[in-house]
Amino acid sequence: MQAEKYGIVGGGIMGMTLALRLAQQGKKVTLFEAAPELGGLASSWKMNDVEWDKFYHVILLSDFGTRGILKEIGLEDKIEWVETKTGFYMNGKLYSMSDTIEFLKFPTLNLIDKFRLGLTILVASRIKNWKKLEKVPVTEWLKKWSGSNTFNKIWLPLLRAKLGESYTKTSAVFIWATIQRLYGARRSGLKKEMFGYVPGGYKVIINAFKQKLIDEGVEIKTSYVASEIKSAASGKAQISFTDGLFEEFDKVISTLPSGLSAKLCVGLSDTETQKLNNINYLGVICVAVLLDKPISNFYVTNITDSWVPFTGVIEMSALVDKKHFGNNNLVYLPKYVSPADPLFNYSDEEIKKFFITNFKKMYPWLTDDNLKFVGVARAKHVITVLTKDYSVNLPAITTSIPNVYIVNTSYILDGTLNVNETIRVAETKLKEITG
Ligand SMILES: Cc1cc2nc3c(=O)[nH]c(=O)nc-3n(C[C@H](O)[C@H](O)[C@H](O)COP(=O)(O)OP(=O)(O)OC[C@H]3O[C@@H](n4cnc5c(N)ncnc54)[C@H](O)[C@@H]3O)c2cc1C
Repeated sequence: MQAEKYGIVGGGIMGMTLALRLAQQGKKVTLFEAAPELGGLASSWKMNDVEWDKFYHVILLSDFGTRGILKEIGLEDKIEWVETKTGFYMNGKLYSMSDTIEFLKFPTLNLIDKFRLGLTILVASRIKNWKKLEKVPVTEWLKKWSGSNTFNKIWLPLLRAKLGESYTKTSAVFIWATIQRLYGARRSGLKKEMFGYVPGGYKVIINAFKQKLIDEGVEIKTSYVASEIKSAASGKAQISFTDGLFEEFDKVISTLPSGLSAKLCVGLSDTETQKLNNINYLGVICVAVLLDKPISNFYVTNITDSWVPFTGVIEMSALVDKKHFGNNNLVYLPKYVSPADPLFNYSDEEIKKFFITNFKKMYPWLTDDNLKFVGVARAKHVITVLTKDYSVNLPAITTSIPNVYIVNTSYILDGTLNVNETIRVAETKLKEITG
């Protein structure tokens, strides 16, 4: 009997994982990617002579899905595990918030507020049934456990920074999932935060993953931009490409964001189209900076001052050995915004100016001479906003177009966006596709 033929659109981690697992089940898989290289959001770029991830990535001890794939592609034992520190930028000052003593010394909150903040984190880390939280607005839940002082001083600025104005429609699952991810890491190992990376970054991971796919017999077609997915006259599913070519498969899976998948798939019902278009995404504009000196010893610096235009400061070189960055320090300044945000219309030069001016205000001793590279990376559809009753309103991955499926990160119902959750969705949804 001939092997079932699968066509997968999108060569990010989702498409690559689906391709790997299907090929391991004996299916004949072709993976189509619009860009010249696989990797999507996990791909890399060049910053002067340094090649590293376009968007920052860390691996957590509890990322068993990611570590599983890394083991299969021969990289798990290459992970460098590092104890990292977390900072807080508040009222124009930087504070360390990496252990209980620092937490107790943290200004602005009184002891009762601190107790309630600690309690909120404890309660969230103990909750198992996240479905109930889908009905509760995140603002309501946080105010209930933390009180309005802590909410206004800490949570509200953090929610705004991470979600923009979408925080008003976000459910408590968002904060629960964020806290669970950090506690998951602490539970699986030492009490301290241990974050990991593979030397060479995701470039090394994507290259080894690609080689594994080739070894398993997956056909990889890059620079193939899908323009349509539909039912062919033969009853099979067909993918058409912008260059006029098309191919037929027994089954086709789109891993593109929901709205883009809705546009691509011809013949969806009105309800399916509506459900797919109703999924709210946030995009990201992320400025990467190479500096000749460190700015702190924090991997993440959370920001509560609303004049700072970015969500946080990620100092990659507080985690990754500087030798990987030509002895420079690598810092990312991400800002999460709605895909319709006017910032997406700004040129790279305008964004650089806007971000760097404020970056220098935060760290006033920095001069232009310290900046060895500044680059802008952007992606319009990155994180789905976990709105009220999110999981109830999602469409099924099996579409009404025969043999056409949509599987993407919008199916992360109880987690934050990361590679581990992406792999988890791919692996759990596979059964629904293969039957
Ligand atoms: C700023 C940022 C920070 C992050 N930090 C971390 C972290 O610390 N740890 C972690 O584990 N994860 C992190 N992630 C998340 C991780 O990058 C994602 O979970 C993962 O890359 C999602 O993969 P995906 O395949 O679902 O999506 P994508 O990577 O978006 O893949 C979709 C692919 O489809 C392709 N495509 C689009 N249109 C077409 C078309 N018409 N035809 C063919 N192909 C098409 C795209 O080019 C893309 O390659 C971060 C992400 C971002 C943006």
